[in-house]
Amino acid sequence: VDREQGQLLDLHDKAAQLYHHILLNTPAGEPARRYLQKRGMSRDLIEKFGIGFAPVQRILTPYCAQQKLDYQLMRKSGLFTEDRDGKLQDRFVERVMFPIRNAQGKVIAFSGRLLNTAQTDLPKYLNSPETPIFNKRRTLFNLDLAKKAARDDGRLYLFEGFMDVISAFGAGVENGIASMGTSFTSEQVQIINRTTKQLDICYDGDSAGQNAIDRAISLVQDHQNGHLNVQVVQLPAGVDPDEYVQQNGAAKFREYVHDQEETTTDFYLRFLRNGRNLNNQQELMTYLDAVLKEIARLDTPLAQDMYLSKLADEFKLDKAALQGQLRQFQGELH
Ligand code: ATP
Ligand code: MN
Ligand code: MN
Ligand code: MN
Repeated sequence: VDREQGQLLDLHDKAAQLYHHILLNTPAGEPARRYLQKRGMSRDLIEKFGIGFAPVQRILTPYCAQQKLDYQLMRKSGLFTEDRDGKLQDRFVERVMFPIRNAQGKVIAFSGRLLNTAQTDLPKYLNSPETPIFNKRRTLFNLDLAKKAARDDGRLYLFEGFMDVISAFGAGVENGIASMGTSFTSEQVQIINRTTKQLDICYDGDSAGQNAIDRAISLVQDHQNGHLNVQVVQLPAGVDPDEYVQQNGAAKFREYVHDQEETTTDFYLRFLRNGRNLNNQQELMTYLDAVLKEIARLDTPLAQDMYLSKLADEFKLDKAALQGQLRQFQGELH
């Protein structure tokens, strides 16, 4: 950490304290307090994650002026926008502020959520831009706390959103992380690979979520070095982890992620059916090809055999024929 990075970390720490204070203790924080209460977020969680509020009245610019903070430092922090004359103004306005911490627990950026997304073109979540202390491709939300919990549980859960990580944490699943709104990156895979041996992907239960699970699995398969085992927890249609916790409670959520954990092969057996009519010979063949390619990746003959039996059973096929096709795909893999 060089001098400038140290100063940027200090500024983020101060900003996080200010936003948090405004949320908890001031009249300006009232709408955000009501919003978070409506979403079922406890005071404990608000404090644990240092959640705050950036009010309509800009607060960071006057604070920095009062502290006589260096203009260049303010510019580089990403916490301000710059108008045509170079004048700086608070970037985050009327947003619930989620501090983003690095692996050491220091605040390096923010994500701000609108209280009300109806009738606006503004993005629901606004993230800090890249800065000397914030590299989005290398950052995972909640990694500092999650890696501790992962030591006991032996895995990390990858969620889509910040609210999912926070609600899961409140429900006792403390080893959840999320990428930065942007898609999951190879750098993040490598960080996870150094942290744990198993990653459970638990994205939203909608078709966007399913497609994202497919992309995340491929990314891990392409970029992990060593043996990071990937599994999937597919949520019921239409809900995300946060909504599941709010609707069903903490115990049910813990039970769900535990019981519904499945292999990537099981995920693909389902996922690859989407949009295919398997009563049609041609579509069934295409499906079997795709599924056998997944089965070919498995490194245990026993697991392969199990899936072949399953397919032979379900589609009334000759297992030996499936085996022949599988061997061909395995040849292509090696
Ligand atoms: P919430 O529960 O607060 O509505 P969410 O996490 O369920 O948020 P999703 O729409 O499922 O939101 O999107 C998943 C993630 O994608 C978000 O947590 C956020 O990081 C990112 N995201 C969503 N919408 C936007 C947006 N308009 N701009 C930037 N990032 C976004
Ligand atoms: Mn989503
Ligand atoms: Mn969601
Ligand atoms: Mn949500």
